[in-house]
This record gives sequence, structure tokens and C-alpha cells, in this order.
Amino acid sequence: MKIKFLGGADVVGRMGMLIHHKDADLLFEYGMRPAKPPQYPMASPPVDYAFLSHCHLDHSGMIPWLCGKYDTEVAATPSTISVAKILLADSLKVAEAEGYPRPFDPVDIRTAMMNFTPMNFGETVDVAGFEVEMHSAGHVPGAAMYELRGDEVTVFTGDLNNRNTQLVWGAHAVKCDNLIVEATYAGRRHPSRQKTERQLLDKIDEVVKRGGKAIIPCFAVGRTQEVMLILRDKGYDMWVDGMGRTVTSLYLDQPEYLRSEKHLRVAKKRIKEVRTPAGRNMAMKGEVIVTTGGMLDGGPVVRYLQNVKDDRKSAVLLTGYQVEGSNGRQLIDSGTVDILGVKERIKCEVQKFDLSAHSDHDELVSFIRACGPKNVVLCHSDNRELLAKDLESEFNVFLPKSGEQIEI
Ligand SMILES: [Zn+2]
Ligand SMILES: [Zn+2]
Repeated sequence: MKIKFLGGADVVGRMGMLIHHKDADLLFEYGMRPAKPPQYPMASPPVDYAFLSHCHLDHSGMIPWLCGKYDTEVAATPSTISVAKILLADSLKVAEAEGYPRPFDPVDIRTAMMNFTPMNFGETVDVAGFEVEMHSAGHVPGAAMYELRGDEVTVFTGDLNNRNTQLVWGAHAVKCDNLIVEATYAGRRHPSRQKTERQLLDKIDEVVKRGGKAIIPCFAVGRTQEVMLILRDKGYDMWVDGMGRTVTSLYLDQPEYLRSEKHLRVAKKRIKEVRTPAGRNMAMKGEVIVTTGGMLDGGPVVRYLQNVKDDRKSAVLLTGYQVEGSNGRQLIDSGTVDILGVKERIKCEVQKFDLSAHSDHDELVSFIRACGPKNVVLCHSDNRELLAKDLESEFNVFLPKSGEQIEI
């Protein structure tokens, strides 16, 4: 079996992986990195079939290009398909607004929507000599791993979380010979989840008691709903704004991917939704605001930042990874953000909480051991070596670079 990464092997983002076996060519993921300028994987050749693990743009962002060019069929869960639709349309809008060339057009998105083949956990499809089964990857609702059964068993994890979160159950190991696994958090360990949730709630309590507002910037997909679930039993005046609202509704339309539909419904009922500019003004008088976007680069969060930036009683509580070059990273590093082209100093309190949806170093090691493979291919990480070191005595470990073909 030959494996070649078109992108996303030694970085997080713009993922694409080709598997060549006998006469068959399969593509797993075809994403982009929504940086400035956006980054894309190498051009994919035509393939027999494509598999998408989940909707995040670093995995799905170039699927319309693939479908528009080659009319490729793409497997994904119904949840991934419905959320990808809005993320892909939004990515075109962002490219236009920022003045970058569009890699595909709305017609290609429509083609992709027609070419998606819905698949569910536990279902199989026969493709090019493989029986391919889909499993849950525990990362966000509908995120999948693929198990390819041929002469040997090969598993591709996509983004992986093997511990439970409020939103989804953690992934279970799948016995295999070859394991292609993400390693975003190689070398890092998450603090205890319960403790982090407690600290977040205590901080919100403190902010509200001193008369401030807690602004919680969140990614629309996964993190918004996770934070809503953490907040659901609190009696604050709570609001949710941005694309995260739409994603919550999509998740509730397909509740089979959720750990608890009931809990998310309760959260949705108790946290008021901002639907209009007038609603936004009302939210600004509230106590807790959960809002897109997670890295402060756009979306309604910008308005809320303007509103609280000089208020020392208020706080911005970051809940996700802040990529190099983002406003969120700038806030952590220098206490400023760029709002509509102007550098603004943020005087309110800023704190960061680790609510990651990826397995950490130790969780990856235990997952890999439980899968019991001969060969382990690490990808989706700029820090794979630290994990490789811990695995080398037990497995054949591969660290391919993007563009390089390996044979296992
Ligand atoms: Zn992801
Ligand atoms: Zn990813």
C-alpha cells in the first residue's frame, strides 16, 4: 500500500492523503488552511473514491474543487455533509471579502453536495477491493474514522478524540495492521477536563459578580455547543451569536451523533439566540455571550470586543487554539487586536481555557496501543517527533512529509 500526503502531514491544516493499492486510488480529506492568504494542498489526481472524516475546513475545504473537476463521489456522515455545506459557502464569502482568488465557485459546492454519499457509523461500502467501515472519531458530532479491510486492515482516524466531552462520546480503538493517526497534541497534555470546566464557570461567576460581561469566543462547529452545554444549568442572562447557532440547530436535526440530545436542547432553550441587530444590543446588556469566531478574526465577536475592551470588570474567555497570525494569538501575546484595521488595546481581563476536541499525547499513545497495529503513520501535526519517540520501541513509525510517498 502506498500512502502520499498532498498536505497536512507535518502541519495542522490543508489535509489530503492518497492511498494507492493494487489498481485503486483513494483520497482521504481535501482541505485548506484558512490563513491570510489561504493555503491549499497539492492538486489531487483523479481518484476512484474520496472519504471525508469531518466538516472542518482543514479537512473539507477543497472537496468542491475535487468534485467540480473530477465529479468524485465522497463518503461522509449526514452531519458532516450538512455542516460542511455552510462552512464551504462561508469560506467563499471570506475569500471574496479578503480579496483572495476563489479556488472554486458556488456551482462546485452544489456538485459536491450532490456527490456526497451519506454513510453512518457501523455501515460499510465496497470500494476498489476494500470493504470500508465507518466508526466514530469522537472529535465533533458526525466525525468519522475509516477502517479499510483488504489483505490487511488499515485505519485512518481523521481528527481524533478518545475521551468523552459534553458534546460527543470519545472514540473507541479499532484493531488494525496499519494505523494512520493525527497527532495535533503530540508532546502536550490537556489539564483535567472537569477541572477546566470548573475553572471556566468560576471565572464567569467572578466576572458577573463584579458587574462585568463574560465574552466567550468560540468556533462555530463543536466548541460553541460544548460551551453551551457547560453553561446549561447556570442562571445567568446568557446569549449565543454567530454561525454556531446554525450549527447547533443542524446538530439537533441529527441527534444520533450527540452524547445527549436532551442536554443540548436544554442548553439551546436557556441560552437566548441573537437573530437581529436589535438582539445584539440586548445581548450586550446580558451577562454571558458565547459567540463566533473563535480566533477573533471576524464574525459578531468583533462587535462584542469593541463593547467590552475598555471595561476592566468584563473578560474575554478564549476556549480554543489560537493559530499564529490570528487576532486571538495577538491578544494573548501583546494584549491587542486589530478591529476593522485599527490596532486596539484590550483592557478587560483575558483568559484561556483548554477545551480541546483532540486527544492529547498520552491519550494518543493509549489509543494506538489499543489498536495494536504493526505500522503507525503520524500526521496532522507540527510536533510528531515527540510522539514517535514514545512509540518507536513498539511499532514501525512513519513520519512522511507532505509530497513524499511511503510504502507500508
Ligand atoms: Zn477538526
Ligand atoms: Zn483537523
